[in-house]
Amino acid sequence: MSTDVYSAAQPTTDNGVAVRADLRSDTVTRPTEAMRQAMFDAHLGDDVYGDDPTVNALEATAAERLGKEAALFVSSGTQSNLSALMAHCARGEEVLVGEDYHVFGHEARGASVLAGIALHPIQTHADGTLKLTDVESRIKPDDNHYPITRLLSLENTVSGAVQPQEHLQALVDMARAHGLATHLDGARVANASVASGMSLATAAAPFDSVSVCLSKGLGAPVGSVLCGPIDLVASARRIRKLLGGGTRQAGFLAAAGLYALENNLDRLADDHDNATRLAAGLASAGPLKVTNQTNMVFVTPPEGDQRRLAQHLAADGVVITPSAPTMRLVTHLDVSDDDVAHIVASVRRFYD
Ligand SMILES: *Cc1c(COP(=O)(O)O)cnc(C)c1O
Repeated sequence: MSTDVYSAAQPTTDNGVAVRADLRSDTVTRPTEAMRQAMFDAHLGDDVYGDDPTVNALEATAAERLGKEAALFVSSGTQSNLSALMAHCARGEEVLVGEDYHVFGHEARGASVLAGIALHPIQTHADGTLKLTDVESRIKPDDNHYPITRLLSLENTVSGAVQPQEHLQALVDMARAHGLATHLDGARVANASVASGMSLATAAAPFDSVSVCLSKGLGAPVGSVLCGPIDLVASARRIRKLLGGGTRQAGFLAAAGLYALENNLDRLADDHDNATRLAAGLASAGPLKVTNQTNMVFVTPPEGDQRRLAQHLAADGVVITPSAPTMRLVTHLDVSDDDVAHIVASVRRFYD
């Protein structure tokens, strides 16, 4: 954005137009100059030996922010959730998880494939919540016909929707009363925290373990942190090694995550404002059904318009995924106020 090198590296859309805004996901952000400088300047060691000072600083900061004893820097949200599930559960044990949650639907069932952990999907409502009685009725009795139900895995935000904290707490309390452990896939828990005014530690408080993505709205290029009790994190560290995720001078990457935690949390409010303005603009720009929550805007155009609308936007340098019937547009730190106005004007031209 700011330097020529950076602009020259910008990809183009299918029809060769320079990309001005990419709303497919908040994973597409590039490190800012300041974040790159922090990475460049990072003090390094060998993290498998435990002596990379920047990784250690990131893990200490993440644990403190999330209000947990310890944290582990991992390569992705998927590796974080998988390490957590494997640390909580032995082979033959079972996790209850929302059927629309990432852990069930978008992680290639790694816990089952690699670790013999059974995943039991629970019906997920439109607002992302699970019904307490749906969860409770799936906890198996101690009977050798069944796997041992060991863990309840929840998510916040779910497709941008902030989950009501009292409801999460009620689910956790019920799970604990049955002897289950609890995990939060908090890939976007920072968005939930900023949107609700709750601290990260408060949002994480009900759960034994919490996974947070540094590479989404927080703007780091790589990485997640898994936070929880010391013993669980120690066990997850061994599992990360087993999964091939022990890395050496990882401080270069941890520096970006540390920079993100120190500088990019509060600014998520800008992404939420942009999503609100984008939603309002689009609702008035054409015959579109539009909703939004935190940094996500959901747009349902008349049937058959998805692909043509995506092509029209691409010609204006805007990248979206033309999923049908509803398209998800995600705001992030590389989508500016001006980009929002540009997108709305482009959609207005499409329908004029
Ligand atoms: C993105 C995401 C993940 C996984 O993160 P990766 O870094 O892409 O593996 C996990 N859970 C949720 C809810 C996500 O949105």
